[in-house]
Amino acid sequence: MTMPPAIAIRHLVKRYAGSGGAEGKLALDDVSFDVPQGEIFGLLGPNGAGKSTLINILAGLVMKTAGSATIWGFDIDANSRNAKRSIGIVPQEIVFDPFFTPVEVLENQAGLYGVPRAQRRSAELLAAVHLSDKARAYARTLSGGMKRRLLVAKAMVHSPPVLVLDEPTAGVDVELRRQLWELVKRLNGEGVTVVLTTHYLEEAEQLCDRIAIINHGKLVANKPTHEFLEMAREKVVVLALDRDAAAAPDDPAFLKSELKGPRLVEITYDKDRSNAGEVLARVQGQGYGILDVTTREADLEDVFVSLTSERG
Ligand code: ADP
Ligand code: MG
Repeated sequence: MTMPPAIAIRHLVKRYAGSGGAEGKLALDDVSFDVPQGEIFGLLGPNGAGKSTLINILAGLVMKTAGSATIWGFDIDANSRNAKRSIGIVPQEIVFDPFFTPVEVLENQAGLYGVPRAQRRSAELLAAVHLSDKARAYARTLSGGMKRRLLVAKAMVHSPPVLVLDEPTAGVDVELRRQLWELVKRLNGEGVTVVLTTHYLEEAEQLCDRIAIINHGKLVANKPTHEFLEMAREKVVVLALDRDAAAAPDDPAFLKSELKGPRLVEITYDKDRSNAGEVLARVQGQGYGILDVTTREADLEDVFVSLTSERG
């Protein structure tokens, strides 16, 4: 038996209200995907792609236009109370009352979720995010990094099985990013399913088991991270030939060979199995002279760019 997904999103559509009779922004356009239980799932996309809109629909902060979603099996409409209890959300913006202490922030949140006093674990959560020594300091005295960590603790007060972080490391320094990654990995190791949105490829690559890419409100890819990295193993050489080619020179060592002009050929190869020298030699072996060569390395960024430009 396969485990039911932690989150299931079906045909989700969000059109924000327009103003002055104009049609509003279509922020989500028929998005469907599952977040498997136990994974760290990355929702990757450029600014304005619709990531926060999707997260805010799950959080119950934005009304969807159409479609459905379940969290831990609970429909966000029909069973919104249980759906909300199953998810903890770390919002993109940091907002705290500056005069509350971390302990008070967590206790207030626990109260909001109706967690009985005996089951509260503020001290444990503060220890988990390395804030025990700041438990009774005013929130305004915390550094940006401490505030981010406090937000993670706050999202976990009701012990949800799913934790969602919306751009947890946007604009944070390298050290804090590393700390947040460690924290996310630790929580995931303890069994929490994690969804994070990011526009940093490296972050998704380092942290996520699976990456979904969203662009202009549409889901354009959804694969295990290693499959993206395999796509990124490709390398491209563009060769200017000394005469017109009737067809693109082909060879078993090439993954792809395409004529870009009568004398311009673009050849893709696997950089683990071949190299530019071999590609050139094979083209020359077919009787062509080569006048110019440019090479291009596909990295995750290229994969991302090609996926986000196709339907742009
Ligand atoms: P992301 O989080 O991926 O950067 P958002 O979900 O914040 O993207 O935004 C997606 C699109 O919806 C953007 O074009 C944005 O300008 C628009 N948008 C977001 N919030 C609102 C809103 N409250 N009203 C109107 N348009 C909005
Ligand atoms: Mg956002």
